Amino acid sequence: MDTFIGLVHINSPSFFEQEIAVWLTERLIDLGLSVENQKYDKSINLIGRKAGTVRGAPTIILSSHMDTVEPTRGLIPMREGGIIRTDGSTILGADDKSGIAEILETLHVLKEQDLPHGGIEVVFTSAEERGLIGAGALDFDSLQGRIALVLDCSGSIGRVVLAAPTHDIYTMRITGRAAHAGIEPERGTSAIKAAAKIIAAVPDGRIDQNTTANIGIIQGGTATNIVPKEVTITGEIRSHDAGALEKTKKTIFDTARRLSKKNQVKIEIEENRQYNGFHISESDEFVGLIKTVCEDLSITPEFIVYGGGSDANIFNSHGIKSLVISSGMQMPHTTEEYIKEEDLSTAVLMLLGTLKALAAGVTSLPFA
Ligand SMILES: [Zn+2]
Repeated sequence: MDTFIGLVHINSPSFFEQEIAVWLTERLIDLGLSVENQKYDKSINLIGRKAGTVRGAPTIILSSHMDTVEPTRGLIPMREGGIIRTDGSTILGADDKSGIAEILETLHVLKEQDLPHGGIEVVFTSAEERGLIGAGALDFDSLQGRIALVLDCSGSIGRVVLAAPTHDIYTMRITGRAAHAGIEPERGTSAIKAAAKIIAAVPDGRIDQNTTANIGIIQGGTATNIVPKEVTITGEIRSHDAGALEKTKKTIFDTARRLSKKNQVKIEIEENRQYNGFHISESDEFVGLIKTVCEDLSITPEFIVYGGGSDANIFNSHGIKSLVISSGMQMPHTTEEYIKEEDLSTAVLMLLGTLKALAAGVTSLPFA
């Protein structure tokens, strides 16, 4: 509890992780880890390493992100009735400081009780909330672990994310022709009208079981007396199915190009991959191990397919089998965010159970 409360007192919105990184570096060194600060142009990631005491046990990566969304100014955590929350004027930052606290406490118990374990790599990333930027800047050659638990899911302890979608963002720049709207509107071609037709025509919302699409931003026009020359539309597509993603994208872009031509405007489309999706089978051995750990603690595991991304998307795309597990955070990204004290400790038991199972060799996981 003290660790968690200490962490939420350190203000760390995305790209401002320096202070918390210094604090965590000291803590990790105290806990017997060697720490590498991986700086990149926008912020810093931390990697802590603890050599295994059991030969042949696989190295595991335990990860959380250091940054939080806002508002955080003047954050005061309150403990009441077994729950930690704020006064409602700020978020709590349990996303993702609960995960960090749970990892630190796990390391503390390992040291205190001198428990046997395999190699441990702690990865604390930055700017996760701004599109997995810190994880994207990690030096993956410096990591040995081939399995990872990312503590960055909300809800009850025992929730495990087995799949997350691929996420693409696109921008359409539509250019018409400006004219005075009162004097010679005939000379103009309205980019807003063309954009409206495009937006109305492209598929959006839930496209199929695996795929969603959304246009979230529209910008354009300058004055009521000018036929608008330029509009920019920004949207996204997510899918658990690579084929469906490409097909949806093609339909959206083809429709937009066809309607642009018909409405005599120019269109430029730019697309950007945010991250690749992943899908881990429920029959996977690592998943099986987590399931056993949950059941030993009388926790019912809940395997879910998730619609959002996390650092695990980046880890998985680098060949590290990564599961996202709940840290017990509730209602993240809102000022009603809270966490149960009990969940903080149960998550620690889950991490300890995982390390114990890996050390005991109850698995033949081929990750050395
Ligand atoms: Zn998070």
